[in-house]
This record gives sequence, structure tokens and C-alpha cells, in this order.
Amino acid sequence: MQTRASLALSASLLAIPFMLLAQTPLLTSQASSATKMSPKSQTSEAVQKSAIVIDTHADTPQRFVDENFDLGDPLNGGNFNLETARKGNLGAEFFSIWVDPVPNKGHFARRTLILIDSVKQQVARHPDQMMFVTSPEGIELAHREHKLAALMGIEGGHSIEDSLALLRDYYALGVRYMTLTWANSNGWADSSGDVDDTSVPHTKEGLTEFGKDVVYEMNRLGMMVDISHVSDRTFYRTLVITRAPVIASHSSARALCDAPRNMTDDMLRAVANSGGPNSKGGVVQVNFYSGFLSQSYRDAQKAIKPEMDKAVQELKDKYKAEGKDAPDAEISKLQRQFADRIPRPPLSVLIDHIDHIAKVAGVDHVGLGSDFDGVSGQLPEGLDSPADLPTITAALMGRGYSAEDCRKILGGNLLRVFREVEQVSKELQAESRPRIAEKQPFDKPQK
Ligand SMILES: [Zn+2]
Repeated sequence: MQTRASLALSASLLAIPFMLLAQTPLLTSQASSATKMSPKSQTSEAVQKSAIVIDTHADTPQRFVDENFDLGDPLNGGNFNLETARKGNLGAEFFSIWVDPVPNKGHFARRTLILIDSVKQQVARHPDQMMFVTSPEGIELAHREHKLAALMGIEGGHSIEDSLALLRDYYALGVRYMTLTWANSNGWADSSGDVDDTSVPHTKEGLTEFGKDVVYEMNRLGMMVDISHVSDRTFYRTLVITRAPVIASHSSARALCDAPRNMTDDMLRAVANSGGPNSKGGVVQVNFYSGFLSQSYRDAQKAIKPEMDKAVQELKDKYKAEGKDAPDAEISKLQRQFADRIPRPPLSVLIDHIDHIAKVAGVDHVGLGSDFDGVSGQLPEGLDSPADLPTITAALMGRGYSAEDCRKILGGNLLRVFREVEQVSKELQAESRPRIAEKQPFDKPQK
């Protein structure tokens, strides 16, 4: 890990002069004759329009299945629909396939398949506005046709039910990333959500032997390895063994907001240096959730929690007296009422995270992973749907980011990583199976 850390440090030092260079006004005669084309003079609207904008995390499929929500509908309390995606020039969305592990215990795969189908049904209903794609070329094609590229990522390795066969099935259905865990640890990887809970069994080293096989098989298939949600130990173990660069589909910076699910500066640098020796490194897609962005918001949440828990208990007791269970929707509504009492942080907190990651890991290693429809509307002020994404671009340019840097952050970085993941997959598939086993950088259990 020492080598990685020092490599990371030099990479981040290199990134600083590069950024300064990118912001220096051009002085040559050639540049002045092309002033209108120079990045400096481009408006944020023009930059937004010229970019392939990619968001790597929206939990809208829950709404498709549980609320019969259609992407052509008005938002109606949610964050994501086709109208707002169009307004914000969103080019591609990775819809999250998230299976709540408690109510779906014993049939994770069933719920996973239902959610996957729900995304495809939406595309089938809106062929004029959407396109189901599974590759970087697909994202570019949809962009040329002015359609929203719909992709899928699984949130939580429990969806594969400890089966590489199911993992391959999901790939075949079009899933292109998987977070190794959600907030729950599974049999082969640990989650930041319960790693301190001693009643939950955990792995010894962050990944079991099977967990290492999962990462390897994802590399071989060309499915992006997503380290959002995992424990720190699982993170580092994954980074040691992955052959392809990794992504964090929706994670923010721990230096600015102390959430266990956020990433330390060392982790940010490690993502930037992930992959093989010739890799250009992975990308951290910043989560928009107020509770991951603003320390004061997080502190206010903590302060309000005892009162909220008491109110929830009272609601449950009320239903219990009638011999019933309190409906989840009513509990969520009550919790949201409490959350809404905390003032929304300004948009600048989100820009601070993007800026921090760009400075620590490099501008080639940061992007957007909104978590729309997954955070009960607890988002910074003025950021309610993809229609508001251009305000992020405007704010970045206000802080001196060039048009080129903005386009990288808006989607270019993710496209680069996605391409490299596909390239690594081709290389691994060209190796014959027995040789793969020999070359794996870890011990296989001896039978
Ligand atoms: Zn999540």
C-alpha cells in the first residue's frame, strides 16, 4: 500500500500545475483569433450542451416497481423524469438496481430481476426519448440521437446470492456496475454500514476468497467494480486485487463530511491509481445527499434523531394497539417531516466536494453520482432534479474550471474508465481459464 500511496501523492502534485495551466488565458495570436472558441469564453450553458453528461446513480427503479411511476410523469415528489433529464442535458443515467435486504430476504434475485425489467419497460415505453445501452459507444450513440442512455448498476452484492452464475446472468441482462455491498455486509464483503456491529459476521480481510473471485469475474466480464458503501478494509483489499480501475458510483469526501460511507483522502488517491500498471485510474462520482456533503447538516440530523425515533416508536405503538404493523410509507413520511426541518445546505457544499476530490485525486478522477430518488429529497438548495445539473457546471466554471475540465467531470472521466474496464475484460478473456487461475494474485483455497 505504501507504493500506491506515494504514487498517488505524486499524481496529485502533478494535477495542481496541470489545473493552473488549464486556467491560464491563452496568449498566442492563434488563440486571440479564435477567442470565441477558447474554453475561457464558453458559457456554462454551452459547456453543458457540448458535454456527454453522465449520472451514475438514481434509485428511480423503486418508484417504477412500487409506485407504478412512469418517466413521462411529473416528478410528484421525486427527483427524476424524462422532462428534467432533457432540461439538464443529461446524456446517460445508471439506474440503480437496489434490493432492500430485509423484506427481500430469501429472494434477492427475484427482486433484482423485477427491477432490471422495470428499467427495460421504461425504455420500451419511451423509445423516442430513451435508449437502453450497455457500453461507452452506446452512450455516445444515444447522445448523437438526442436520447437519454439508460444503463443499470446493481447496488449491493447480495443480489448475486453468492453465485458467479447469477453475476454473469446480470451482466448478460445489461448490468454494467455492481457495488460490492450496500449498507449490509454479505457473505463475502463487508459494508461501512454495519462493519462496527459485532452481531453481524464479517470477513477477516475485507473480502473472502469467493469475494476475490467476484471481483476477478467482474473484471473478466467487463462489469465496473463499484466500491461505494464498502468498509475501508474491503475497499483496500479490492484495490489490491482488481485488474481494472474501480469506480465509486455515489460517494463523497470524508475530509469535508465525516460519514463512514464517504472516502478519505488516501482512498480518493487510491481510486485515482486503481487498475493495472498502465491504467489511467478510476473515478469517484460525488453523491449529492446533504447528509454526506455538509457536516453541520449531519450534526443537525444527529441532534434531531432521538426525537424522531420517539415519534416513530409512538406511530408503531399506535398501529400495534390495533393489531397492525405501521406501514413503511407512513414511517418514511414521518421521518421526512423531521428531515425537512433541517435547512438545506447551499449548492456550494457539493461544489466543495468536487473541488476537493479534483485537488486530492486529480480532475480526471471525479464525476457525478446524484443518488436522486434515494435520499428523500435531502439535497442541497436549488438541486432537485437533473434539470438543475447546469448550475453545477456554472459553479465549477465560477471557480475557474475550464470547459475541458467540466466536460471530464460531467461524464468524460466515467466514459474513460468504462472504456478501460472493457479493454481489461478483453485482455482477461483472451487468457485461457487455467492460466487465469494461476495468474490470480491471491491464493485459491486448496482442495
Ligand atoms: Zn447507495
